[in-house]
Amino acid sequence: VSKAQKSGPVVFQPSFDVGSNVNLTLVSELKKSIYNNELSVFVQPKVNLQSRAVRSVEALIRWKHPTRGMIFPDQFIPFAEQTGLIRDVTLWMIAEAAKVSVAWLQKGMSIPIAVNISARDLIDSDFPNKVAEILKATGSNTSLISLEVTESSIMDDPHRAKQTLLHLSEMGIKLAIDDFGTGYSSLSYLKELPVSELKIDKSFVMHIEASQNDRIIVNSTIELAHNMGLHVVAEGVENIDAWKSLQEMGCDYGQGYYMSRPIPISDFETWYQQWA
Ligand code: C2E
Ligand code: CA
Ligand code: CA
Ligand code: CA
Repeated sequence: VSKAQKSGPVVFQPSFDVGSNVNLTLVSELKKSIYNNELSVFVQPKVNLQSRAVRSVEALIRWKHPTRGMIFPDQFIPFAEQTGLIRDVTLWMIAEAAKVSVAWLQKGMSIPIAVNISARDLIDSDFPNKVAEILKATGSNTSLISLEVTESSIMDDPHRAKQTLLHLSEMGIKLAIDDFGTGYSSLSYLKELPVSELKIDKSFVMHIEASQNDRIIVNSTIELAHNMGLHVVAEGVENIDAWKSLQEMGCDYGQGYYMSRPIPISDFETWYQQWA
């Protein structure tokens, strides 16, 4: 089917080259990965910085490749986006997250799961309907699944993105703006979107102790978000000092290695019991 198969032996590469050309080996392997059960969902908690309570978890994809080992999303999501495979990947993630959320609920753990979606999903006017179908089929509901969209994916096609986000929001799905501060979106535009959460990019949070500039950026972003009626999540909380600074600044939630690295679903229950 793919060109990679026709062009004879494939040269082994230790990792994928996320360059300008689509890596055909990766594309054909990625196509199969979904059906071969090689994709896996890791989760990382978002916790309330005042009460320590777990608010939700973010689902982060991992590819357990049979020969290359664990492949992180930065190594294959860009290819999936370029080729359109991302649509299947996103729907697979939402379905997995939906199943997990239902299983947790049955164990008394009412923890919403946030899934990352990409620009391609936002321009697909049928995407909200597909999400609704998945939720129905898995017995999940819109209060258990939320979606994270980056600033830059919205700005690819702001008009269509807005339509899709409105549709999702009307269905009752909560939306977050991811990587805030790294894109080029206009604030006046973001104001019109039906989002309830703003995530400050980890690049501003990780050096909050050392860099006064970063502190200023984080502080004003928190203020801005609150003025817009949004709650704020700081990514990249790596130590107790960062936690305390963010707490003093009035940041609502935090996520980062200090609380937990992204972990397999099967490890989460243990983490959750120890945290509580
Ligand atoms: P993101 O959505 O901004 O996710 C946060 C990334 O920061 C994750 O990397 C996470 O492991 C990492 N991180 C969390 N806490 C800390 C910390 O305290 N310090 C540092 N240095 N890093 C931290 P990961 O899992 O490698 O994911 C990278 C990116 O890949 C994500 O960035 C997201 O944009 C994308 N991605 C992951 N899963 C999916 C997916 O299912 N679909 C799509 N479309 N994109 C995904
Ligand atoms: Ca995210
Ligand atoms: Ca992010
Ligand atoms: Ca990011």
